[in-house]
Order: sequence, then structure tokens, then C-alpha cells
Amino acid sequence: MTVLKDAWLETHWDTKLCRRVLGLCQGNCAFYEWALELQNQNALLYGNATHLSNAQLRNQLEANICNKLTIPVLRAKLADDLTLKKWIEEVKHLDDKCLEDLTSQRKIMEDLYKSSKRTTSSNKPPSSRTYNPSSSRLGTLSEAEWTLLMKHKGCFKCQKFYVSHQSKECTDGAPEASSYKTLTEADAIAAKPKTRTVAAVGTVGAVMLSSVLDSESDSEDEMALF
Ligand SMILES: [Zn+2]
Repeated sequence: MTVLKDAWLETHWDTKLCRRVLGLCQGNCAFYEWALELQNQNALLYGNATHLSNAQLRNQLEANICNKLTIPVLRAKLADDLTLKKWIEEVKHLDDKCLEDLTSQRKIMEDLYKSSKRTTSSNKPPSSRTYNPSSSRLGTLSEAEWTLLMKHKGCFKCQKFYVSHQSKECTDGAPEASSYKTLTEADAIAAKPKTRTVAAVGTVGAVMLSSVLDSESDSEDEMALF
């Protein structure tokens, strides 16, 4: 075999191959593939003076391992008397774990990035409101809402039904635009004090309406709609 190699291969082929074995770094290869490649190259040198023993091969692998694996391999403190095969398997395991960590880290970063983008865009409307607080206050009521508030002794400012105060004296303030929904008859009925009997409601309602009209008569804006 050696004779055949000497005859067919170029001179110093063994030195060249040996250099290739010694110079083969892991780079971006997965550890296991790289270790296999190195073993294959070394096997070609079998019987030659430059052929590496298993111990030399392990040193070779250890010295040229990629940066991200260096620390985990050192930490693992793999025993010196492990067979080359066993040692390679142990390092392969560490390499797999490294890759797993890297993948999950990347996923966490991606999720963070996505959620930060989402937060930024959803924050925009409230922050623009903060700069202009008056825009969140409701200035106008629809005619139907006015009528409802009139009918159910409501306050035109805080827009609550069956309140004891008038809109002039209102301390509650107008509802926030963000939480505002159009007033309905159902809202008014829900707000109606429960103690009154159905028969009395007609009279009380009329009294309330007239009292609202009386109390609001000095307000031109409010009367104009009526
Ligand atoms: Zn009020």
C-alpha cells in the first residue's frame, strides 16, 4: 500500500496531507462533521510517520475547536483517559447544546424585538392625546342624547342620569372620550332609582323634566336645542 501511494501520489503528499489535517479548523462546521473529516484525512496517513495517534488527534481537535465551544469543553473537564470516540461524542453533545442555546436566544431576541415594535405602535395614539388633553373631552352631545338627559334628569356635563346636581354645578366633569359610548334609553332606565313605582314614574318624570327646563332656562346654548 505504501509503495502504491509512493508510486501514484505526488512527492511530499504525506507532508501536504498532514499540514491539511493540522490546519483544518472547525470554522463554521458543526463539530461532529469537522471531527469526522479530520479523522478521515488522518486515516489516509495511516502507516506514515505523519499519521496522528488518537491522543494527538484529540489535542488537534481541542486546539482548533471553534470559539463558542472552547469554554463549554474546558468547563466539562472531560477525562484524559476517554477514548477518542467517546471524547468526540461528549463534545458533540456540548456542541448540540450550544446550538440549542443559540437558537433559543435568537428566538427570545426576535420575540423581544417584535413585542417592542408592537408596544411602540400601540403607544402612539395615547401619547398624542396627552399633548392635547382638551381633545379627549366631549364637547357636544347629539340631539337624541340631549332629549334623553332631559327626560331622565341627567346632567349635560357628566352625562349621568338621575343625578341630584345640575350641569352648572357639576363637579364630575365630562366623560373621557376613550371610555365614552353613546347614551341610550336603556342606560337611563338602568340608572333610574329602583324605589319608585311604575305609576309614579310618569308624574315624577314630568316634574323632573320641568325642573330641568327651569334650571337650564338661563343657559341659551342648552335651550336653543330644545
Ligand atoms: Zn354632572
